[in-house]
Amino acid sequence: MAHSEHGTNQGVQTDGIEAEVGLDEPAVVPITPYLGIDLDVEQWRCRRCGEELDDATENYKHGLLVNERDPSEIHRPLIGDEYEYTYSPDSEWCRILEYYCPGCGAQVETEYLPPGHPPTNEIQPDLDWLRERYMEGDT
Ligand SMILES: [Zn+2]
Repeated sequence: MAHSEHGTNQGVQTDGIEAEVGLDEPAVVPITPYLGIDLDVEQWRCRRCGEELDDATENYKHGLLVNERDPSEIHRPLIGDEYEYTYSPDSEWCRILEYYCPGCGAQVETEYLPPGHPPTNEIQPDLDWLRERYMEGDT
């Protein structure tokens, strides 16, 4: 007997990014496809494996593993290795930081920064606002 492999269509979708959720806990509010905030303990959580990453009032990147890469490793020559010029940013001025979940190894974020620059903090949600919006109606 043949079964459809399409069978785990569950959960309530509210923002469209719930589709990739591996974690099914109502207190974890989705922020990005890989990141959520657990409002019960005010911690960043990996939505794929549930790992607690860092205090939700801090930069989430502080709870992730970082791999600093030379842009020339990623932006390879378009035509062939014999050509000196590429679209790669200058390695003297730019590094690519890759951030990974320490629990499951998912690549959560990347960013281009000058060498030695600390990770930027581009997501700092208002936890009270999130609580009002997402926990409203829960008893
Ligand atoms: Zn994870």
